[in-house]
Amino acid sequence: MGMIFYKTDEEIELIRQSNLVVSKVLALVGEMIRPGLTGADIDKAAETLIRDHGGIPSFKGYNGFPATLCVSVNECVVHGIPTKEQVFKEGDVVSVDCGVFLNDFHGDAAYTFALGEVDKEVMQLLKITRESLYKGIDQAFAGKRLGDISFAIQQYAEREHRYGVVRELVGHGVGHNLHEGPEVPNYGKRGSGPILKEGLVIAIEPMINLGKKDVKTARDGWTVLTKDKKPSAHFEHSVAIRKDKADVLSDHTGVEAAILQNPNVQAV
Ligand code: MG
Ligand code: MG
Repeated sequence: MGMIFYKTDEEIELIRQSNLVVSKVLALVGEMIRPGLTGADIDKAAETLIRDHGGIPSFKGYNGFPATLCVSVNECVVHGIPTKEQVFKEGDVVSVDCGVFLNDFHGDAAYTFALGEVDKEVMQLLKITRESLYKGIDQAFAGKRLGDISFAIQQYAEREHRYGVVRELVGHGVGHNLHEGPEVPNYGKRGSGPILKEGLVIAIEPMINLGKKDVKTARDGWTVLTKDKKPSAHFEHSVAIRKDKADVLSDHTGVEAAILQNPNVQAV
């Protein structure tokens, strides 16, 4: 995944600006998403908003990815390609991942939306996945080790709640590059890995399966699916390592407020 770069305070503020646009995109999706809408609809709205803010969609063209958003429905874990054939329906869980490049820095965050009446066990998966992200963030400050973040997520999602923690995909450093070092796995040993230092900016992004941890890539070369076809959830924040606690650079308050106003989406 490449080199580790430590950021200055000024650079961290620029990454916050990129993440602010990401957060606006997620809030817009939270306002508009409903059964009957398509992946292409939200993707187009997202790209327009990003360009209106002077940004560039980070994912579009990244290793050839064709869209602004990753839109991953139900058994799709991540990297789903939004299309006009991808019509959302009642009961779907839709993970939306967005990256924005602005002032030479990327922002990266994700949220999973529950459309209408969603199975109770799937709502619980979303809730625990969201909470596991914050368990990881709680460990993300100077002096801790990277493995403390990984361990906290795995401990909560896998050992306490018996969900499958995806191994093949991980969080990452974020900055001038969308994906930089270090890798941030959602599984690992407490007290292992590099010591976290101030100025490190990482995307923490648990990908948690209702069933088994195993995934496969679809024939389109992008879409990652659970092997057992059970649903998966994904929540992500970009955070800067600081002295006593993480500085969360992305923001889910906008999307969560939008969901409370949207009768077609259930709050996690
Ligand atoms: Mg992301
Ligand atoms: Mg990411």
